[in-house]
Amino acid sequence: MTRNDYDTAARWIEEAARPVAFTGAGISVESGIPTFRGPTGLWSRYDPKILDLGYFYEHPKESWEAIREIFYDYMGANARPNAAHRFLAELERRGKLQGVITQNIDNLHQEAGSRNVIEFHGTAQKLLCTQCGDRTPFTEHDLNDLPPLCKKCGGLLKPDFIFFGESIPPEAYQRSLALCERADLLLIIGTTGEVMPASMLPYEGKKAKVIEINVEPSAYTAHRTDIFLRAKATEAAKELAKRLGMDLE
Ligand SMILES: [Zn+2]
Repeated sequence: MTRNDYDTAARWIEEAARPVAFTGAGISVESGIPTFRGPTGLWSRYDPKILDLGYFYEHPKESWEAIREIFYDYMGANARPNAAHRFLAELERRGKLQGVITQNIDNLHQEAGSRNVIEFHGTAQKLLCTQCGDRTPFTEHDLNDLPPLCKKCGGLLKPDFIFFGESIPPEAYQRSLALCERADLLLIIGTTGEVMPASMLPYEGKKAKVIEINVEPSAYTAHRTDIFLRAKATEAAKELAKRLGMDLE
């Protein structure tokens, strides 16, 4: 494993035939999206039980009040894609990225222009009816009146991301596996590999070399990573972009 070797990392990206990115909360921190874990994370202020399915069904109004604060007032309003999101979108545009597998539900990869985005944990952009399965953009619902109910059947709506104990959407899981298995280069950005089963994906891409961008060493650093770029996502993206002749502004 080599450290902070931006020249080699940039060359690997240029030479790769099927590079894939795997991102987590760390890529969106600089867009102002708070993380869940850690001493200043959201779970230090909110009780995680609001994302427990059983609790949610029993206390939909109370759960939704916290969900609205965390995911809709707070996250959505001011967050914009940053240089790291734009870097990945530009790589894809140049044919240098097959897709982004993200654990984030913030839609920032899509807003940056990435097209093949696999949302491993679902998305906050849509609401899912727990009765009839209908999915609608959250903007079609009045979140001042909680909990939001399905306009077709009156059923309780939940955000279309997975709650604790729910399984990964099968299509997202299959597409992620397929991408990883074929990948010859994996860019791990802003994820420390603590959340199962997403954390296993880099091990599925056995043939892929791994470039990891994180502010601290992670579960991958010693065992899976070939080049560890210890930096904020935007700093590393700018260093790589410079070497690849890209303008991220
Ligand atoms: Zn419904």
